Amino acid sequence: MLILIEQLGIGAADLAAAFLFLYGLHRMSSPVTAPSGIFVAGIGMAVAVLASFLYAFGVDTAARSNLPVNISLAVVALVLGGGAAWWSGRKVAMTAMPQMVAIYNGMGGGAAGAIAAVELFGNKAQGETELIVTLLGALIGAVSLSGSLIAWAKLDGVINKPVRVKGQQAFNALVMLVTVAVGAYIVVASADKAALVLAMPTTIYLFFGCALALGILMTLPIGGADMPVVISIFNAFTGLAVGLEGYVLQNPALMIAGMVVGAAGMLLTLLMAKAMNRSVSNVVFTNFGEVAKHKQGKIKGSLKPIQPGDAGIAMRYAASVIIVPGYGLAVSQGQGKLFEFVKLLQAGGVSVKFAIHPVAGRMPGQMDVLLAEAGVPYDLIVQLEDINDQFASTDVALVIGANDVVNPAARTDKSSAIYGMPILNADYAKKVFVIKRGEGKGYAGIVNALFYADNCDMVYGDAQTVLVKMIEAVRGLNLPAVA
Ligand code: NDP
Repeated sequence: MLILIEQLGIGAADLAAAFLFLYGLHRMSSPVTAPSGIFVAGIGMAVAVLASFLYAFGVDTAARSNLPVNISLAVVALVLGGGAAWWSGRKVAMTAMPQMVAIYNGMGGGAAGAIAAVELFGNKAQGETELIVTLLGALIGAVSLSGSLIAWAKLDGVINKPVRVKGQQAFNALVMLVTVAVGAYIVVASADKAALVLAMPTTIYLFFGCALALGILMTLPIGGADMPVVISIFNAFTGLAVGLEGYVLQNPALMIAGMVVGAAGMLLTLLMAKAMNRSVSNVVFTNFGEVAKHKQGKIKGSLKPIQPGDAGIAMRYAASVIIVPGYGLAVSQGQGKLFEFVKLLQAGGVSVKFAIHPVAGRMPGQMDVLLAEAGVPYDLIVQLEDINDQFASTDVALVIGANDVVNPAARTDKSSAIYGMPILNADYAKKVFVIKRGEGKGYAGIVNALFYADNCDMVYGDAQTVLVKMIEAVRGLNLPAVA
């Protein structure tokens, strides 16, 4: 009877969780439905986690005496983990979100590695196939754990330079070979016995040690600007590792969740690489950060400062304005003031649109979330490929805290680190205003020739403060709203 409750309950819960994951993911395809999609997928996760307590009904009599302790431990872990996630999720700044994603992703990889460790040290593998799948999940999970931690350290500024030495790639390949060889040895050595016997804890430690080292070594040389793609790759790895361990545990919810995360991570990786016009292998194996330090030729023109009020008034008299938000807008948290300014322009009959670059900010979709937070209607938000042709016929491009995503060097300078990356054609607008605090460079660390162009004026200051001054100046005109 108990076994029946266990099997029926778990089966139904897994089915419900799988449906909620997929339906939640489907809703995440549009910014309008994404918040509810995240909520739905979260319910799916809660169902899957709670259903795992039903396994208690199927525990054999010998192990039943351990149940109270084990259930208590699981509850404590859930309360601690859930509490910490709730607290940090509410507290995290929008600009620190990539670091948070990196760290949570690492935890996912670590969890998959931990399941594998329990299986391996507990000698639980039922046959060679299961052993190979367990080892594969362990390898990928451990690489994802240590690699994601390095990605976090880089994004958080704990490690602020790519670490590169001569012959690094050959050494990394060697560590990879050694890891695979140790794994193969574990499989071959156990296959000699009538039943698999993994009485070789030292070898298992060595295997995990090599896999963790591989994750660190792979990530250390990669430049900061490539971290989002790297996190996305590790995200795909984590999903794969979780899926493999789901197979080992014969847990359908884990298998489905793992495969969904793995596939989504892989697709996001490919889309981001496409947005930067680079291949995934180029991201992983080339020294992007190093190339960024190339000597730029002398830039023609000069930086021309203008007062916020003057720029604001000029836009009020324009027919069309395209706004290019970037990382600096997120830093200043000026999205609310920006929308207030936009509403003033619209009241004056100005056509306003927002142009979104796929890698503006510090994580994919950051600008969409920022603008949604301020209540900007989705029909004003246009993605790069749909808006780029409109700059040439637009009166003003207002660049706010964006730099690399509007750097024309991506089009013209073959030696530039961002050469080939599609950019927003802000420089094609009749007039360009750029709001930034000073002469700070963008993430790729290169000077932007757009700021020196004849049609460009610089509005210096923190984005939010500048926008407040623009609003005051336009309000000060006391112009009637256009019907
Ligand atoms: P950038 O990082 O290129 O430029 C941001 C600019 O904002 C800086 O030049 C800075 O200049 C300015 N700024 C900073 N704070 C403020 C503030 N408070 N008020 C006004 N301006 C401010 O940003 P972009 O969005 O243009 O480009 C994103 C870059 O980040 C790309 O290179 C991309 O590859 C990379 N990247 C993207 C990720 C993603 O997935 N979206 C993740 C990680 C990296 P100043 O100091 O003078 O104010």
